[in-house]
Amino acid sequence: MRLSRYFLPVLKENPAEAQIVSHRLMLRAGMIKQQAAGIYSWLPLGFKVLKRIEQIVHEEQIRAGHIPLLMPTLQPADLWRESGRYDDYGQEMLRIKDRHDRDMLYGPTNEEMITDIFRAHVSSYKELPLTLYHIQWKFRDEVRPRFGVMRGREFYMKDGYSFDLTREDALHAYNRHMVSYLRTYERMGLTAIPMRAASGPIGGDNTHEFLVLAQTGESEVFYDAKVPELKLGDREVDYDDRDAVAAICDEFTTLYARTDETHDEAVFNEIPEERRCVGRGIEVGQIFYFGTKYSEAMGATVSTPDGTRVPVEMGSHGIGVSRLLGALIEANHDDKGIIWPEGVTPFHCGIVNLKQGDAATDSACNALYKALTENGLEPLYDDREERAGAKFATMDLIGLPWRITVGPRGLGNGVVELTSRRTGESEEMAPEAAVARIVEIYANH
Ligand code: ATP
Ligand code: MG
Repeated sequence: MRLSRYFLPVLKENPAEAQIVSHRLMLRAGMIKQQAAGIYSWLPLGFKVLKRIEQIVHEEQIRAGHIPLLMPTLQPADLWRESGRYDDYGQEMLRIKDRHDRDMLYGPTNEEMITDIFRAHVSSYKELPLTLYHIQWKFRDEVRPRFGVMRGREFYMKDGYSFDLTREDALHAYNRHMVSYLRTYERMGLTAIPMRAASGPIGGDNTHEFLVLAQTGESEVFYDAKVPELKLGDREVDYDDRDAVAAICDEFTTLYARTDETHDEAVFNEIPEERRCVGRGIEVGQIFYFGTKYSEAMGATVSTPDGTRVPVEMGSHGIGVSRLLGALIEANHDDKGIIWPEGVTPFHCGIVNLKQGDAATDSACNALYKALTENGLEPLYDDREERAGAKFATMDLIGLPWRITVGPRGLGNGVVELTSRRTGESEEMAPEAAVARIVEIYANH
């Protein structure tokens, strides 16, 4: 993409309404525009990152054997009357009437609808296990929408629903989700710690939240200093191997890590003092095993091998796709702007032309652009008639991890400059070498 032809409405001034850095930077970098409290338009740069995050979430769900579908945002109230949640959900639910005076709602979540799909089409244990998920907009009329996309009213969520015959099978589905989530966050360059959570109104006795450590997080967290060091890395995971999947879950959940809701001071104090950490975290996902709560209420039963019928065992598992943009920026920024991890960056690298209109510099930039594109990468070429300082400031603000700077002086010596956004370190090299380096960097992303 050429910046002169792109739509990147960056703001020079700090927007007064933004209280935290990620909100401020998303507005300044022209990623989002607020349309009403907690409701945003996703401008091209923000939309691009949202789609990259969504893609990673899809890939890891599919890898775990989960199946994508798409349910609507609007739901009939009658489904929620069956589960009893139409009255329980309270003011967070946006209630709507259609022209025939029928009660509708904008879905805050989809347990009822997926249970309705299940009961209509599945009736035998032979069709299990089954996990269906979608990535769809949700609406929750939060009392205090704030922090930009972190606590919106309209937000984008991946929600998956597992169906199994037995509790044991359902717990395997739970573990599979835990491991797939760990992989998902790691691919984005994030450390998200599974913490035991309280089950709340949704019910159920097995649930973990995934928290990204950040000062601005809304949850207070207590954890062993060794927990954030745990990494999945590039180990192979066989999602059908129950013991192997359970072993990974044990590895990540045995050390102490809890939110204030489940914190137990006595257990916490058993950790050696120097490892006891208290901080704040952003909830970027949650997994639940809740058994037959919805299947019993809504009559979603399956036949068993001995010929009886039982309510299907369920769990629901969510990732805050739009909230992740905020969490990623909270975890990756400096005074100058965002620093995207390679896994989610909107463009793979920036090209800065220091002397727009100079034939040799223009043609070197075009050649770099072409070479990167031919290698399947997407560069953002700043071809505007602007001062170098302004071009650098824009690149730093929008946070592309790599920048190639091209000017007549360097070209005279046959070199361009490759700069890392994260370290600020620059290296001079031939244009072909810069392309090769960037291709190599992204080979694993
Ligand atoms: P919270 O405690 O932050 O209100 P929740 O526990 O009610 O969230 P879940 O039902 O667990 O939310 O939804 C799954 C994920 O969706 C959450 O882990 C979070 O990342 C995301 N999410 C929930 N509410 C919002 C919101 N208002 N804005 C953006 N993302 C949200
Ligand atoms: Mg939650």
